[in-house]
Amino acid sequence: MKIHEYQANQLLAQYQIPVARGEVLFDAKRARAAFQKLANPHCMIKVQVLMGGRGKAGGVRRAVSADEAEQLAATFIGKPFSTYQSEGSQAVVKAVMITEEVKIKEEYYVGIVVDRSNSAPVILFSREGGIEIEEVASSRPEAIEKIYFSPDQLPTQEAIQSRIVKRFSNQEVSSQIAAVASKLARLFVEKDASICEINPLVLTDQGRVLALDAKIVFDDNALFRHEDIQALKDPEEDDERERKAKAFGLSYVSMSGNVGCLVNGAGLAMATMDMIKLAGGEPANFLDVGGGATAEQVKEGFKIILQDPRVGAILVNIFGGIMKCDVIADGVIQALREIKLRAPLVVRLEGTRVEEGRRLLKESGLPIISCSTIEEAAQKAVQEAERASKGSHAHSH
Ligand code: GDP
Ligand code: MN
Repeated sequence: MKIHEYQANQLLAQYQIPVARGEVLFDAKRARAAFQKLANPHCMIKVQVLMGGRGKAGGVRRAVSADEAEQLAATFIGKPFSTYQSEGSQAVVKAVMITEEVKIKEEYYVGIVVDRSNSAPVILFSREGGIEIEEVASSRPEAIEKIYFSPDQLPTQEAIQSRIVKRFSNQEVSSQIAAVASKLARLFVEKDASICEINPLVLTDQGRVLALDAKIVFDDNALFRHEDIQALKDPEEDDERERKAKAFGLSYVSMSGNVGCLVNGAGLAMATMDMIKLAGGEPANFLDVGGGATAEQVKEGFKIILQDPRVGAILVNIFGGIMKCDVIADGVIQALREIKLRAPLVVRLEGTRVEEGRRLLKESGLPIISCSTIEEAAQKAVQEAERASKGSHAHSH
């Protein structure tokens, strides 16, 4: 579960990590009073959405007057906002944060994640903050200090400082950073977080270290023991399509490619995605209709998949076990009669009542590309999706 920056700030403050003075605004009309209280002499207006990259997308702005603060707040609140990290989905902004303008001298990065290969949480620190840590990690891995720790034994400020001190000429700065990192480690463990990231952690012109932007993700499996965290849940975090799928008893997972997948069973979903990748493509999503889907559910499944504008082709891969192939075929046919399919459909059926299923598809006269092996189906779907994205290239930019 993700939380908004303003919520993360409250949590950081609870752990005595310094943050910029600020307020959350759900109504642009309140921006004026907040500006007058916080300005030094300017303020920052920051859009509150559950995705990174807001700065580059114009969601972090400076306001030099109360008028401008209100005007900026009004351009964000109630409007959709997306960044290059939002994977095709757009969130409607409910709030902005207004903060004092911090005079930045240096920007650092500090993050805590679970390193699966080492089965341990790790503090990542870099003097190069404010930019994406993935970029630093791939171009200059030596610029990142990795400090592993055990959740049973939190790292002390001194232990952390001893690891980063060599990167600074000034002990005072590294000591403040180490204090932040050790508090962040306690938050990470106590609240069962899976990611705690401060980017940038800044050194101000006054020589203070403070957190200017925090991203915190919690482990959903541990939420039951954190009522305070559960209360922070923004229902819009879940992709709109994921919510809709849930309502129909389907499970939908969004990814970053252009082949939409309708499958039955999580194992087959994994195998299908592997086959798509093997064929040189990328899945846009997968929709799992489960063991006993009805024709109605299949129809809703198609609608959900087609809502994603990146989907250039749909691959239906069904192994009829509990689910009969003719039921799926019937669902596909009903769906195509009711909704306008804007993407080519590739179907591969196998298993119980497969002959009946294939016959139904064929006799329907609908434009369905029927395949008998998953290899062939995956290749067809990838080709079709590629062709579609080439065709729409002009207006996809
Ligand atoms: P993100 O783009 O979603 O990660 O949003 P951030 O909150 O990290 O803001 C992006 C960038 O805006 C930061 O890296 C800073 O360089 C800049 N920024 C944000 N707040 C302030 C501020 O108070 N003062 C100054 N000078 N720059 C800021
Ligand atoms: Mn940031």
